[in-house]
Amino acid sequence: MKRYLRPDLTLPFCAGCGSVNVMSSFLRAAHELGHVDLSKFVFCSGIGCSAWIPSPYLMADSLHTAHGRSIPVALGVKLMRPDLNVVVFGGDGDLSGIGLSHLIHAARRNLDIMVVMVNNMIYGMTGGQVAPTTPFGAKTTTTPYGNFEYPLDVTKLMVASGASYVARWTTAHGEQLKEAMKKGLKARGFVFVEAASPCPTAFGRRVGFKDVAEVLHWFVDNSIPLEEASKHTEKELTGKIIVGEFVNRTAPTLTDNIGKMVKEAQQAD
Ligand code: SF4
Ligand code: MG
Repeated sequence: MKRYLRPDLTLPFCAGCGSVNVMSSFLRAAHELGHVDLSKFVFCSGIGCSAWIPSPYLMADSLHTAHGRSIPVALGVKLMRPDLNVVVFGGDGDLSGIGLSHLIHAARRNLDIMVVMVNNMIYGMTGGQVAPTTPFGAKTTTTPYGNFEYPLDVTKLMVASGASYVARWTTAHGEQLKEAMKKGLKARGFVFVEAASPCPTAFGRRVGFKDVAEVLHWFVDNSIPLEEASKHTEKELTGKIIVGEFVNRTAPTLTDNIGKMVKEAQQAD
């Protein structure tokens, strides 16, 4: 990983934080695709622990934006520099709480960027508040008796919104996560990769996990491959993490459609 990291900085993550695994999966994916450096990338992130994955630690151009606003900035970068790989790293709170509408519209437009959502099921950095992804019944700092709301399945929402590539894994599935990121980096159009990720500091200990290993075991025991999900009832799937590749399709991207329309308009004049 050292080749891709700024040498004079120390990573800010707590011991056992899954953000390190997500960073590692991404860098291994880039490495295996032949990127000897990150000069062909621009990274955007909002606010939250996972926003630190690219900024300022990766040896690359990155934009650290306001809370929930990484995607509009990524849109601007991609429209001006369609030749670069634009990758957004964000947490579940940042992308599916504060910035949810941007995420939906980016998928609907088939904006040619990759979004990696690090889902620790909590607002980690701001103190462990309940998030749209927090499991029903989980104790957080703002739901001390348990979460009384149902969690949002962001991966399913991305499928319904029109993304070109959608996959979900956990940090306990490092190899599969890396392969999904490789496919995502090669795909055209809107790419969404969700990584369920442990936050031992703000989620794990409050929910009652002894240590990060227990969270990772819970991920493995609780994951159901997408191919098997149809064999289960909705009730059986409640609280489970359905993992796998949800969508892999080819469709014109936002920049394709803008380019085509500009050409047609110029020819019509
Ligand atoms: Fe990671 Fe949670 Fe610590 Fe943030 S608070 S660095 S998400 S373990
Ligand atoms: Mg979070």
